[in-house]
Amino acid sequence: MNKTGLLRSWEEWSKKAEKDFTAKLQGKIIAISGKCPECQHQMLFPYAPKIILGLKVKTEILSREERTITISCTCNVKHDTSTTARGCGAAWKMGLEIKENGQIILTASTEPADSNEGDFWYTYNEKLLENLRAVSEKWQVGLASLVTLVTGYSAIKGRESIAKLPAWAQITIGVLILSAVATQIIGAFFALKAAHGSPRMGKHPDSKWTYIFDEATLTLKNLNITKILTFISILIFILAIGFTWYVPEKPISYLQVTYNEKDKICGELVDIQETNLRIKLNSFDDPTKIPLQGIKSMELLTECK
Ligand SMILES: [Zn+2]
Ligand SMILES: [Zn+2]
Repeated sequence: MNKTGLLRSWEEWSKKAEKDFTAKLQGKIIAISGKCPECQHQMLFPYAPKIILGLKVKTEILSREERTITISCTCNVKHDTSTTARGCGAAWKMGLEIKENGQIILTASTEPADSNEGDFWYTYNEKLLENLRAVSEKWQVGLASLVTLVTGYSAIKGRESIAKLPAWAQITIGVLILSAVATQIIGAFFALKAAHGSPRMGKHPDSKWTYIFDEATLTLKNLNITKILTFISILIFILAIGFTWYVPEKPISYLQVTYNEKDKICGELVDIQETNLRIKLNSFDDPTKIPLQGIKSMELLTECK
């Protein structure tokens, strides 16, 4: 009896598992299975060598790596003695070595093990896809608000002021904003794929674990693409804002008109309508009309005095 109240000790479990257990690479995880050395029920413990970065798990990458992992009983039989969510409560450590030919060797360990830790990693792996999708959804919302913030900022300088910029700058800003929006739309598409998955045809997964890890890998890829596209989009927007701020506006000529006897008026020339010349004194009021007949002289100025 050891302190968990079970029949054997960590060392005994580990020694027994060394003989009885097999470890096979299944897609991106290593499936460690056999009969639990304590309760004798069949169990499978998934071990993910690349737990979050699970993008490229190949035996070449894994080879020559040795590690000690915690395994806990994950049998499907209800054990009243157990304090963990599943299994009989037995937990032990094992050395795990991946050979270059892909063969995986389990070796017994004498180190004490915590069944809660084994249980934690089992649950972590089982909920990985679910959690990644939830995280993706949060990122989706967060990135969208980031874009809104930047585009809202650019609205400070509206269309009217852009109209005063030289034609080449107007075209550049237009192209930049369109490409930023296009990038954002593509990004949103990948964000949706990351958060909710995308139905596709494929061969039936070998196990629930290969399904979870294949989908999780795709989710992670889509989330990363979303992040990259969002930041590109924001950069393009910032560039467009920079143009509206720093490209000098077209020089505006002001017209100073002397009319009647000595009346003088200065402002931006709007147009000539039939018998009137229209001048805008400021950007808020309607243009002032001056009868053409009364005009004595006109002068172009760079600014009104
Ligand atoms: Zn059991
Ligand atoms: Zn067990």
